[in-house]
Amino acid sequence: MTQQTIMQSNKQHSVVGRFAPSPTGPLHFGSLLAALGSYLLSRKAQGRWLLRIEDLDPPRVVPGAADAMLLLLEKLGFEWDGKVVYQSQRIERYQQILQQLHEQNLVFACSCSRREILASAPHTGEEGPVYPGTCRKGPIGNRQERAIRLQVPDEVVSYPDGVFGRQSQNLQRAVGDFALRRADGLFAYQLAVVVDDLDSAVTQVVRGADLLSSTPRQIFLYRCLQQSVPEYFHLPLALGNNAKKLSKRHGSFGLITSENGGRALWQALNFLGQNPPVAIKNASPVELLAWGVANFCVDRVPTAARSVPEF
Ligand code: GLU
Repeated sequence: MTQQTIMQSNKQHSVVGRFAPSPTGPLHFGSLLAALGSYLLSRKAQGRWLLRIEDLDPPRVVPGAADAMLLLLEKLGFEWDGKVVYQSQRIERYQQILQQLHEQNLVFACSCSRREILASAPHTGEEGPVYPGTCRKGPIGNRQERAIRLQVPDEVVSYPDGVFGRQSQNLQRAVGDFALRRADGLFAYQLAVVVDDLDSAVTQVVRGADLLSSTPRQIFLYRCLQQSVPEYFHLPLALGNNAKKLSKRHGSFGLITSENGGRALWQALNFLGQNPPVAIKNASPVELLAWGVANFCVDRVPTAARSVPEF
C-alpha cells in the first residue's frame, strides 16, 4: 500500500490512535501504559490503532529492541492496523517538510554552540536554557551552521488535555526557538512526530505525561503547516524505585515479559484507574484487553504519578 492509500484508509475512520515507542530498550511498565491507553481509547471508538517505531536517534537505538517489542505486543494480544512505520525510513519526508517551512520563512540556521546558548539564555526553561533567538537574523559571522530552528512567537499555546485538563505554555518563555534539525544533523523528535502523525492521519495522541511540555511545540508546528491538531491525552507517569520516571536505567525493574504480561496488563488497567475486577487478575492478556475495550473510561484516569506496582 502506498502512503497515499494508507492515509485514505485512515481518513475513513473518525478515530486514529497510535503507539510510538522508542526502541531504546525492552518494553517496560511505562510504555505498556502508553500502548494500553492508546489501544483502548481508539478501539473503544472503533478506531484504528497504528504502531510506529521512533528510531530516529541511532546512538540511542538498541539493536533488536524494536523487534522484541513488536513480538511481545503481539503475544500480549495487541493488534495494530497497517504496516509498522519506522522513522529511520522517513528522513526524506522530514527534509521535505523542513524545506517547506524554510520557504515559509519560519526556520533559520543557528551557529550557536551549547555553551553559547547556556551563557546567553535569559533563564532556564522547561527543558534547560531557553534559546534567546541569537541567530534569527542569520548565523553570526561566517560560522558553520549547526541546528535548524523554528522561530516561535511570544504567545501562549493552549490546549485541552483529555486527562490533565487545559494546558498552556508560552513557547518563547518556556523553550525558545527550538531545533527541528539538531546540531548533530539528526531530525528532532518534535518535527518527526508531527510529520508522522499528520501523514498517518492520526486524530488522537495518547502517551506519557513526560511529553505534556512538548505538546505546545507540536501544536505550534501543526499551525505552521496549516493542519488541524489531534486530540491529546497524557497518562500518569510510572515511577521507578528511586521515584524517577521509569527508564532503562532501572534495569529489569518493571520489565514486561510474555510470562508476567497478563498480570502487568491487569496492573496497568488498575494504574489507569479502571478498577479491573480481582476475578480477572489471572486472565489471559487477550481477555484483559477485551475487558479493557468494553469498560475503558477515560474520565477515570488519574493524573498523579505513582510507583510501578508489582506484577
Ligand atoms: N517515542 C516517544 C517515547 O517513547 C513517544 C512519542 C509520542 O508518543 O509522541 O517516549
